Formats: sequence, structure tokens, C-alpha cells
Amino acid sequence: MQRRELLKLFALVPYAGSASLIPWASASAAPPKAEKHDLFKELGVRTFINAAGTFTAMTGSLMHDYVLEAIQSAASEFCMLDEVQDKVGEKIAALVHSEAAVVTSGAFSGMTLGLAGILTGMDQHKVEQLPHLDGTGMKSEVIIQKAHEIVYNHALKNTGCKLIYVETAAEVEQAINERTALLHFLNIEADKGNIKHEEWVALGKKHNIPTSIDIAADVPPVSNLWKFNDMGFSFVVISGGKAIRGPQSAGLLMGKKEIIAAARLHMPPRGFNIGRGFKVNKEEVLGMYVAIDKYIKDDHDKEWKAWEAATAVIDNAAKTVSGVTTSITVPALGNITPTLQIAWDAGKVKLSGKDLQEKLRSGAPSIEIGGIKDNSITVTVWMLKPGQEKIVAGRIKEELMKAVG
Ligand SMILES: *Cc1c(COP(=O)(O)O)cnc(C)c1O
Repeated sequence: MQRRELLKLFALVPYAGSASLIPWASASAAPPKAEKHDLFKELGVRTFINAAGTFTAMTGSLMHDYVLEAIQSAASEFCMLDEVQDKVGEKIAALVHSEAAVVTSGAFSGMTLGLAGILTGMDQHKVEQLPHLDGTGMKSEVIIQKAHEIVYNHALKNTGCKLIYVETAAEVEQAINERTALLHFLNIEADKGNIKHEEWVALGKKHNIPTSIDIAADVPPVSNLWKFNDMGFSFVVISGGKAIRGPQSAGLLMGKKEIIAAARLHMPPRGFNIGRGFKVNKEEVLGMYVAIDKYIKDDHDKEWKAWEAATAVIDNAAKTVSGVTTSITVPALGNITPTLQIAWDAGKVKLSGKDLQEKLRSGAPSIEIGGIKDNSITVTVWMLKPGQEKIVAGRIKEELMKAVG
């Protein structure tokens, strides 16, 4: 039925009684079900098969069905935002072995909020002073290992704090002073720094300074959800929308009770703080809760085997092309999933990694790959829908074969 005809018909339905002034309150006058739109098509937004990985620019991950169901059901009722955060926080904290937890708008905001909580404690006046720390008596420095420098550490600077970079334990001890608020650690670069997790935590304990760790992209293994809480970090942040496939605009801040309680002073529904813009509503809070709960119960061995099988399909197709070599590696600390590198002899296969990326991108269906180098690319399968590995395998092989000179 045409939309116009539907509207005409709808206009003819007689409203019975005064309640019908609110037409959707009356069953007989229920509005017609909205047509299902493909908004991507309507707007001309390219969609693609994601063989690259969990990238914010590619909208992260696809939420699990049970997360979508939680969001849908959450959206149909009102509740108090603090109450749902309290109840969900308690459940999540028990699951991840932390004293407390709160759903944030991502790992990045979790870093800002955790540090903000440490700076201000429960002092509302201090909360309102951030990010201007001068003359407030608040601490203002965060110590980080040089090897742990990453763009996302800007989250810590958003509180007004300065980052102090060190390389050795002796330098940490020299750098610590009355302004030191936090010792921050980046798990994904743990192998690059001199100081390892346990020593970092011990340095914090020795000087009575809180320690934090960014594990944004670092499940699997699922045990990382509690490992760093068990180890004694004061707060831990992780993304909700990477391997966990919860809401992309959510994450978790887990840690000591007093830090989480103070961090929440910097969050909605409260304003007059630096975190009012990091809003998560009940949909993300409940979506994150079911995502974590289910992720912990998942059969991770089975998931790993499925990733290996899908990777093998693409690997086997690519390496049939003359001049092509492949290798499968698993990153040690973050984005821990089989990662297939496809490389080729430039003398035999006449295209660059960028050319291949462009050809796959502009093909039908469009495909995104990662790790673009002169004569190699990388592929991961964890963001593929079942069956898409065959399409990716076929397209990569096709384009490589075409380029064999
Ligand atoms: C993805 C990522 C972040 C940012 O996480 P969001 O959940 O998107 O805020 C921070 N740190 C690292 C190491 C990351 O990989």
C-alpha cells in the first residue's frame, strides 16, 4: 500500500470517545506500522563487510542481538538514571571482581572520569573547578611510561592534569611529588615499557598513589576483565564496543568504591562538571550490562575456533595465487584475534596494498581490510558475519590474480 493511501485510510478511521484525542492510546486507531527503511541506502551511505577489525571510524563492532533486545526494551520505560547505574554497577562489579563499576561512554571517558574522581573526591566545589587546577590545592600530575604514550592519554589531560613521562622505576620515584595524582599504565604496550604491571601497582602502593590501566581493546581473553582488578589497580577502563560487541558508545570504569563514587559526580545526570557531555542513557547502561554478562558466559574456545576456520578460508584462497605468501599471527596484548597477513612479491603481483584496498572498497559488496603496506595487507575475521569469509576470500583472490603480471 502506498504511504499516501495509508494516510487517507488512517484519516477515515473514526475516533471513538474522548480518549481517542490521543489516537495511539486507542487500539482501533493504532497508527500504521512504520515502513522498514534502509537509511544507509536512502542517504547514500556506503556499508561494507568489515575484514579490518574494531575501528571507531568503521563504527566499531556490530552489537549482539541480545544487546539490541536489551536496548529496545530499555527504551520503552522511564527510570532514574542513577538508580539504573547503581544496580547495574553492582552487578558488573561482582562479575569483574571490582569494588564498584559504572557504565561510561567508552574507555576514553572512563579515564577522564576515574582521574577526575581521584582529583576531587566527593567535594562538589572541586568538581566544579575542573579542568582548572591551578591554585585549587588539587593534585595535577599523572606519571606514565614513555613507551605507553598514545593519543588516548589525552583523556587524562582533559581533567587539567599534566602527563609526566618516565622510563625506569627510579625515574618514577624521582617524579613522584605532592602533585602526583595517578600512575597510569597502558596494557597494550606493556611489553614495551621497562616497568611491568605488578611493579607499577607496587610503586603506587608504596607511595600511596592510585594506579590505573587502559585495557580498552584487550579482551579476549575474557579473564582480562578481572585480572587487573585482582592485581590491585585502583581503576581499570575497557571499551564496550570492541570484542564484547556491546554498545559502541559505552565502556566500563571499574575500581575502588571511593573512586567510582567520586567519578559519578562528574557524570550525567549532574552538570557543572567536565563529564556532562559523556552521556550514556539507560539503553547503553542496560545494553552494556547484558553484553558483559553474556560475554563472560560465552564459549570463547568455540568462538576462537570459528575465527581460525574463517581465517583459514581466506588464507587458503589467497595463497593459491602465485607470488603470494601468508602468515597468521595473534597479537599478544590487545586485539587478540588471528590476524592474517597477505604479502606478495612485487615483481609478480603488480599492485600496491593501497590499490588492493581501493579495489575491495569500490567492489560489490564493498570490503574493508587493514594493515595497508606497499606489498601486504592484513585481514581479521572477528567482525565478519558468518559466511562473509567466503566473499572476502573470493574477492581478495580475484584481485590478486588479476594483478599477476
Ligand atoms: C579504543 C581504545 C580507546 C578508546 O576507547 P573508547 O571505548 O572508544 O573510548 C582507548 N585506549 C585504547 C588503547 C584503545 O584501543
